[in-house]
Amino acid sequence: MFESEFLTSTEHSKDAYRRIIARAAEVVYESFPDQPYSGKSPAALAEAVSTDFLPNREGSWEQITETLRTVVSDSVVVSNACTAAHLHCPPLLAALAAEVVISALNQSMDSFDQAPIATVVEQKMLRGLCTEAGLPAAAAGTFTTGGSQSNYMGLLLARDAFLQRHWNWSAQTSGLPPEARQMSILCSDAAHFTVEKSASQLGLGTDAVVRIDVDPHFRLKPSSLRSKIEALKTQGFLPMAVVATAGTTDFGSIDPLPEIAALAHEANAWLHVDAAYGGALLFSPQHRSRLGGIENADSVAIDFHKLFWQPISCSAFLVRDARHFDAIKLYADYLNPEFHEGEGIPNLVTTSLLTSRRFDALKLWISFQALGREKLAAMIDRTIMLANHAAAVIRASRDLELVCEPQLSTVVFRYIPSRPESNTDRINTEIRQNLFHRGAAVIGHTRVRGRQCLKLTCMNPGTTEADMEKLVELIRSQGRVCDELKANP
Ligand SMILES: *Cc1c(COP(=O)(O)O)cnc(C)c1O
Repeated sequence: MFESEFLTSTEHSKDAYRRIIARAAEVVYESFPDQPYSGKSPAALAEAVSTDFLPNREGSWEQITETLRTVVSDSVVVSNACTAAHLHCPPLLAALAAEVVISALNQSMDSFDQAPIATVVEQKMLRGLCTEAGLPAAAAGTFTTGGSQSNYMGLLLARDAFLQRHWNWSAQTSGLPPEARQMSILCSDAAHFTVEKSASQLGLGTDAVVRIDVDPHFRLKPSSLRSKIEALKTQGFLPMAVVATAGTTDFGSIDPLPEIAALAHEANAWLHVDAAYGGALLFSPQHRSRLGGIENADSVAIDFHKLFWQPISCSAFLVRDARHFDAIKLYADYLNPEFHEGEGIPNLVTTSLLTSRRFDALKLWISFQALGREKLAAMIDRTIMLANHAAAVIRASRDLELVCEPQLSTVVFRYIPSRPESNTDRINTEIRQNLFHRGAAVIGHTRVRGRQCLKLTCMNPGTTEADMEKLVELIRSQGRVCDELKANP
């Protein structure tokens, strides 16, 4: 017989469960490193976890605790003020508590009989999000694993709607027609790489993606979009979708949504707004107006595991007209038989790419309850202020060059070595690498117009102005060290 304490079954598993959770929380806090990262290399990490991964016999709690300690102490500390590389947030405690409940209940969102109240909660949360984005009553959505999956879904529904409208063609039953080679997707030079990834997975190929020029703030230039659409048409191509970005990953730039919406509409193309990052501004009264025009989107991606401090994953895909989900709907006798629809039973498998799926809506709901919109807005606004502060410090430093004014909570810049013969690209690459290997800071990097740059992504509203200044100072001193090493190897 199995001992019941292995499963969440009866009253007497409650104490075991409580102990396990409390222990796990203790291990996390006890072993949290002081620095952002231990700095270990892949080889050193492989050495640190060289025990048997699939043991025959159970281990003691001491051994398990030791394993957890190892994992915690060699993880990147997302809450450290010197961790500022990616859109990678420290999670809210309220969301962590909700995660415990989500996992304990283990509802699965694919069918109503596996997730009754969870289905209703998710639908209500999605309705609220659609309203917040200004989408009409016919809109709907689904929770996804992230912006990548949401962008894929937007382009999938766009593709299927386009095929249906142009050639009365069902991709679901017939795959792609030969004419699919003519279909184009337009997005800016600063749009996320998952536009190409989606195009390749959708059978259109990365060649279907046409990149449009950006202005000096890395926002799509509507005049270039207009001329590109015209040029494509004269070459026999068909603009299927335009992807506007509300918060590019590197710069936080928000494309001019109203102008793009008008051009997409005129071209009869689907408008997908990738608001994976900037979608958070829906909840900031101070910055909400910058998303004006999002209400014209055919579909929208918003991540909550970025500027909403949710543990990964928590993300939503919204579509203007729920009927577009019909393009991907299939029935399975064991799960969502067609007759359930007649009976009004919602089986959310029909609106998702996934089958088994987590109840991520709960942690978002609980987070809103725990903090309220006002506190969440203050946190969002604070990260934007921190980026502006970092930019001001960078602008005032002679050995640093600001590449673009912050548009959201990222700052892109370069270290400029004092010796004119130094290789600036190489030194900027080395600054980031050395800080990471020393475990002193985890900062970002990117290439801008062919030049190697550094990037700070401010995701922690608890970071102070002084912390930001120290981080910039750390980067400058690492820059001088890298430059010296090159001068006197
Ligand atoms: C982060 C991001 C994505 C990808 O989202 P994931 O949640 O990592 O899958 C897509 N687009 C933009 C603009 C992003 O910033």
